Amino acid sequence: MNLLCSEEFLRFFNTMQVETISLDDALNLMPGALTHIASVLHIGKFEVNISFPPSPQEPNGYNALRILYDDPNGHGYISHSRVIRQAEKGRISFAVFPSTDYEFSDDDKGSLDFLIKCIHLIVVRSELSEQLQKRQFTDYMTQLPNNAYFMKFSNDLSLRGTINKYTVIFSNLRNFNYINQQMGSQVGDIVLREYSHKLKKFYGSDELIARFGGDNFVALLKNENVNRYLDYISVISITVASGNQTKTLTVNARSGIYPIPTNGSNIGEAINRANASLAYSKRVSDNDRVWFRDEILERINKDREVVSSFRTALIHKEFLVYYQPKVSLDSRHISGCEALVRWKHDGNMIPPGMFVPILEEEGFICDLDFYVLERVCEDIRNWIGKGITPARVSVNFSKLHLRNENLINDVMDIISKYRINPGYIEIELTESSSATDFAALTDFVNKLKEHGIRTSIDDFGTGYSSLSLIKDLNVDIIKIDKSFVDHIADTQSKDYIILNSILSMVMGLGMDVIAEGCETVEQAKVLYDMNCRMIQGYLFDKPLSHDEYTQKLSDNHIYEIEL
Ligand code: C2E
Ligand code: MG
Ligand code: MG
Repeated sequence: MNLLCSEEFLRFFNTMQVETISLDDALNLMPGALTHIASVLHIGKFEVNISFPPSPQEPNGYNALRILYDDPNGHGYISHSRVIRQAEKGRISFAVFPSTDYEFSDDDKGSLDFLIKCIHLIVVRSELSEQLQKRQFTDYMTQLPNNAYFMKFSNDLSLRGTINKYTVIFSNLRNFNYINQQMGSQVGDIVLREYSHKLKKFYGSDELIARFGGDNFVALLKNENVNRYLDYISVISITVASGNQTKTLTVNARSGIYPIPTNGSNIGEAINRANASLAYSKRVSDNDRVWFRDEILERINKDREVVSSFRTALIHKEFLVYYQPKVSLDSRHISGCEALVRWKHDGNMIPPGMFVPILEEEGFICDLDFYVLERVCEDIRNWIGKGITPARVSVNFSKLHLRNENLINDVMDIISKYRINPGYIEIELTESSSATDFAALTDFVNKLKEHGIRTSIDDFGTGYSSLSLIKDLNVDIIKIDKSFVDHIADTQSKDYIILNSILSMVMGLGMDVIAEGCETVEQAKVLYDMNCRMIQGYLFDKPLSHDEYTQKLSDNHIYEIEL
């Protein structure tokens, strides 16, 4: 019999020619498709045993014994079997039993082998297409669903009309960069995998948590599960091997949260809004959970504008340098000043809090810092030219500069361009969290010192710090953060006590101290009594425009206050 051309085979073959079918679907379809050909070939029972080894997509592997055809009238017991080996120790075994009281002839066996090969191809093809589909929708490293799957899943919910029962939660790990820097990216990868494993345990079959690259995770959860999830991810412990020890790290996440409204089914927009709320949490609120509000979108759109107009603004010299005097409590004279940038944009004066953090996040801040340093050098050169004695100017430098291997040369190039005595310049740096940063910071501070440039640690007391690091760092000045100064008029306050001991330690190490953000005479008095004799704050002056400051400098201004 010519099996290939038989009507029964064609019927079988055409039924199985369904495109991109999953393995289970193919196996489910098979018994129906085989009915006709089974009677022609005297098949009583047709079994297939499939065994695929574990893979990243299928951690338990695939093992199934399936009966593709079973004649209700029973079958004989001498089977015709074939085993076809697969890659990586996989195997597919076939066993075909004849109808009751029938025995397969050699001719039959030839036809059965042909049929077995066809079924084998169908099985392998559907397994492959399933793997490809899984890969397309799975994040390889963590085996969580990826953003493509997130879109597909949520579109399905939209079509079913149930998406408004869900909330999008866009989360980012708070201390992941720190872990990566401190423990290396291999440990970082393990942390991400373990973390994802714990996320997988959280959600049900009609919910989803996907990885959107890096340490970004987006959940689509039913509204009633949102708070439980936020609690769950507020602290997740992960144990990693580190050398021959194990370490338990606690990872916590920040989240932007957007409950999908009844009339809103645009999932892209929902993700955007959750993401904007997350950005808001990082830049503005510092709260780990931020629910979307309309004003968040306004703020984030403004931020985007900052990024897009930055380059042109720099070229058009829209950034202005203001100077805030530092006053010596002994002489009441200006003993120095801090350069603080403002952005004159579309007729508005924008304070640095509105753009410095964004430029920092986007990596543009260093260009702005160099620009400010250059304007400061230019102003110093002009003051000298006019016979006005300049006071030392401190310039804020972002931590991001520490990645620049040519940093000291870049700084010196600007200073020499204006033929400035480097003694007129001070660089303000903030405390640093990571060990690599600390090494780069130490190196930069030492090189600046060699060139006669002073350095200060800004916002002291607010960073990771500190006291132990400070003694290893060759800085000249510690700037006490305003948050300490705020409460010191109350001599019973904790801040008073802490500040007192910080001051005696810092001074004992031979460094100078300046207090920032002093607003009242009472605060100045307390600082004076603590031996902190240099002060910057609204008590004396707010940051002044170039012309106002030049006036005070040339007048040799004396601040009148009674201590
Ligand atoms: P900062 O370097 O700690 O600067 C001190 C800030 O405290 C300034 O805010 C100053 O105006 C404010 N301040 C000083 N005295 C008082 C006071 O008595 N009361 C109050 N309420 N505030 C006081 P500003 O100018 O808004 O700058 C904010 C921050 O922006 C700066 O903090 C600094 O971190 C950053 N920044 C400013 N200019 C630059 C720059 O050129 N480069 C970089 N990287 N950052 C800059
Ligand atoms: Mg500063
Ligand atoms: Mg400060």
